Amino acid sequence: MDLGIAGKTALVCASSKGLGKGCAEALAAAGVSLIMNARGAEALEATAQEIRDRHGVAVTAVAADITSADGRAEVLAAAGSVDILVTNAGGPPPGLWSDWDRDDFIAALDANMLTPVALMQAMLPGMIERKWGRVVNITSGSVKAPIPQLGLSNTARAGLTGFVAGTARQVAGQGVTINNLLPGIHATDRAVSLDTGVAKAQGIDIAAAKTQREATIPSGRYGTASEFGATCAFMCSQHAGFMVGQNIVLDGGAINATL
Ligand code: NAP
Repeated sequence: MDLGIAGKTALVCASSKGLGKGCAEALAAAGVSLIMNARGAEALEATAQEIRDRHGVAVTAVAADITSADGRAEVLAAAGSVDILVTNAGGPPPGLWSDWDRDDFIAALDANMLTPVALMQAMLPGMIERKWGRVVNITSGSVKAPIPQLGLSNTARAGLTGFVAGTARQVAGQGVTINNLLPGIHATDRAVSLDTGVAKAQGIDIAAAKTQREATIPSGRYGTASEFGATCAFMCSQHAGFMVGQNIVLDGGAINATL
């Protein structure tokens, strides 16, 4: 399917690996030029070069922490005005509800709520002026069905979801859509680190922890970054102009709900 976005420009945050990389790759395959970001310069440049070679689009790589004000300023200066914004950052650490103090909550809110809000505030005016824009926020299935050990994620992402619900309806009339993409378990470094946590907590090996977690998914497997990226690219396409303020779950059926 021609997504109708060849020649557009996208900022894809936190995209040297995992789900962000999947989104960057799928947008590049649709002919979109990229500004990519991650903290580690080496992996970021390697991924950027891989995408340039494979898809022949322009890719600017900015090594910076997207959750810090300075890092964000650097990324935004390099990006200028973009047509497509994909927000992403690492997820907060797991733990128990009693583990976290105010600083832990502020850090999680900064990374997974206030950072995407700031990025939208920076990019929406240009999109509105040009009467076309797409924003996809990578959040988590924990927004629909809380994951008890990820209380910081449940909390911060719920706040972002509330902001998007209202804001998406304020900008839709100007050709700009904002939606959230909610991953269930995907085979990325993040999944390995969560498998490791389960293995430690239960005194089992990592392979057994993965098998145990796969058994909770009706599809019987983890999702892939390329499946995730393809969905993101569709949400950024010309065809998705009537999708506004939605929370699209990609979890192999793991959340057992009718709606
Ligand atoms: P991942 O495989 O660990 O990749 C994270 C990517 O983000 C890397 O490129 C990393 O590069 C970059 N990154 C992390 N923190 C950053 C920061 N502060 N500034 C800039 N770049 C940063 O993680 P993932 O699985 O793709 O997960 C992406 C998001 O989806 C996370 O928020 C995660 O919690 C959420 N999620 C994932 C799953 C899953 O199963 N994979 C499920 C639900 C939710 P550097 O480390 O070099 O910065």
